[in-house]
Amino acid sequence: MYIVMITPECAPVAKVGGLADVVQGLSRELAIRGNEVELILPKYDCLRYDLIWGLTPSYSDLWVPYYDQWVHCDVYFGFVHGLKCFFIDAHFHKNFFHRGVFYGHADDPERFAFFSKAALEFMLKANKHPDIIHCHDWQTGLAPLMLFETYNQFGMTHSRVCYTLHNLQHQGITGEFILRQVGLNPARYMTPERLQDPFYPNAINLMKSGIVFSNFVTTVSPRYMGEIRDSGLGCGLQEILNAYGAKLGGVLNGVDYNFWNPEVDRYIPQHFSIETLDGKYTNKQALRHRLLLAENFKPIVAVISRLDHQKGVHLIRHALYFALANGCQFVLLGASPDPHINHEFWALKYQLNDNPDCHLEIGFDEELAHLIYAGADLMVVPSAFEPCGLTQMIAMKYGTVPVVRATGGLADTVFDANFSQRPYDERNGYTFNDFNAQGLESALGRAVGMWYAYPDHFRELMANGMRYDFSWKNPGQYYLNIYDYIRDK
Ligand code: ADP
Repeated sequence: MYIVMITPECAPVAKVGGLADVVQGLSRELAIRGNEVELILPKYDCLRYDLIWGLTPSYSDLWVPYYDQWVHCDVYFGFVHGLKCFFIDAHFHKNFFHRGVFYGHADDPERFAFFSKAALEFMLKANKHPDIIHCHDWQTGLAPLMLFETYNQFGMTHSRVCYTLHNLQHQGITGEFILRQVGLNPARYMTPERLQDPFYPNAINLMKSGIVFSNFVTTVSPRYMGEIRDSGLGCGLQEILNAYGAKLGGVLNGVDYNFWNPEVDRYIPQHFSIETLDGKYTNKQALRHRLLLAENFKPIVAVISRLDHQKGVHLIRHALYFALANGCQFVLLGASPDPHINHEFWALKYQLNDNPDCHLEIGFDEELAHLIYAGADLMVVPSAFEPCGLTQMIAMKYGTVPVVRATGGLADTVFDANFSQRPYDERNGYTFNDFNAQGLESALGRAVGMWYAYPDHFRELMANGMRYDFSWKNPGQYYLNIYDYIRDK
C-alpha cells in the first residue's frame, strides 16, 4: 500500500512526546513490511537538522491558497532513520514554523490548519494519490475534511483517511475564521454534528473534524478508547465518538526496538539482555557516576516525563520524598512547558542539591533518557490519565520495573505482581488505582519492599517485563488490517 502520514511530529527530529515515537515506529514497521511510506511535516526551525540525512529542496513552486492570497512554500526532502520525509516551509509574514518551538503560540490552530492545507496542496501538485492518508491529533484534524470536501473535486478521490487520537486533552478549539482561511464556508460546518465545539458553541473543534470526516478513527490503547467513550475522559467528545462507534478502534502503541533495546542501544555503556541481566548493573553505576549519586546499596527510582498535570506532578513529587524516606535513590528527567511547574521543580532541585541520593534533571535529554531506562530499578508513572504511555513499555524492555496508576494504556500493559489475575510469569510491575499519595505509596512501598526483601522475586519480575513483546509487530499488522478495510478497492 502507498501510505502518507501527515504529522506535526516525528522522532527524533521533531519530538515533544509519544506522538513522535509512534509516527516514527509505525512508519518504519509499515515500510519494513514492504509498503511505500512517506511523511509530511512542517519545516520547523527547531528540527534536529543534524539527524536528517540528505535534506534537499524537492519542490519549490508550491503556492497554497490561503484566505485571500497565495502563500509560497518550498518543500524539502530528507531521510530520517531511513524514512522518506517531506518538510514544508512557508514563506509568510506570520512565520508559522520559525518560532523556535513546536507548540505554545496563541495561533497554533492557525499554524497547523495552514500546514494541513499545504500538505494536501503538495500532494495534489506532486500528483500523489496514496491509498491511505494517516493523520495525527488535532493538528491535522482539518485534513480529512478538506480532502473529502475540497480536494476530491480536484481529482483526489482515491485516498482514504485513518485518524489517530493521541490525547483528547488537546483538541484544537478555535474560532471559525480558521475555516474561512483555508477556503471553507463556516456556516456549513458550525453544527453540532460537524465541527461545533461541545462546550463553546461559537468555536470549532479541529479534533472533532478529524473524527467526523475520517474513514477510521483509532486511539492508542483499547482501554483508553473505552475510557473516552464511557468513563468521563472524553473531554466533551464522547457523544460524537459514540455516534461514530462503528469506525472506532483502539490499537496499543508499539515501541521501536531498533532504538529502545538494551541489546543494541548505542547510548548505554553496557549492552545486556535477559541472559546477561547483570550487565544492567554496569549501567546503574554509569548512571550514578553521571548524575553524581552515591554508591549505596539502594534501588534507583526514576521518573522520565513531561511535567504536566496529566502526568500527576504532585504524585511525582510525593514519589521523590517517599523514595528518599524509604531507602531509595531518586532520579527525575522532565521538563514542562508551564513555567510555574518548571519553577517549582527547579526550586526542588536547589533544595535537594546536596542530597547524594537524588538528582533532578530539568530539561529534555534523549541520550540521558536511555541511560536512565537502563540504569534504574523502578520507573514511576502516576498519571491521572494515560492514552497509551511509552515510558512503562520502554522501561520493561530495559528490565526496569514499572510502578503505574492503572489507567488507559498503563492498565493494558502493566500487571500487578501481587494482585493481577494473570499467571505469575506474566506479572510485570506494580499498579495502584487511587490518584493520591496513599495510592502511590501502596504500590511503590510494595515494590521497594520486594527489592530489599526478595531480590530473586524482583529479578523474576524484571525478566517477565523483558519477555513481553511491545514491538510494532502486532500494532503494525492491526494498522494494516484497518488500512485494508477502508481503502478504495
Ligand atoms: P507523552 O506522549 O504523553 O509525553 P509517552 O509516555 O507516550 O508520554 O511518551 C513519552 C516519551 O517522551 C518517551 O519516549 C519518553 O522517554 C520521552 N520523554 C519524556 N520526557 C522526556 C525528557 N525530559 N527527556 C527525554 N525524553 C523524554
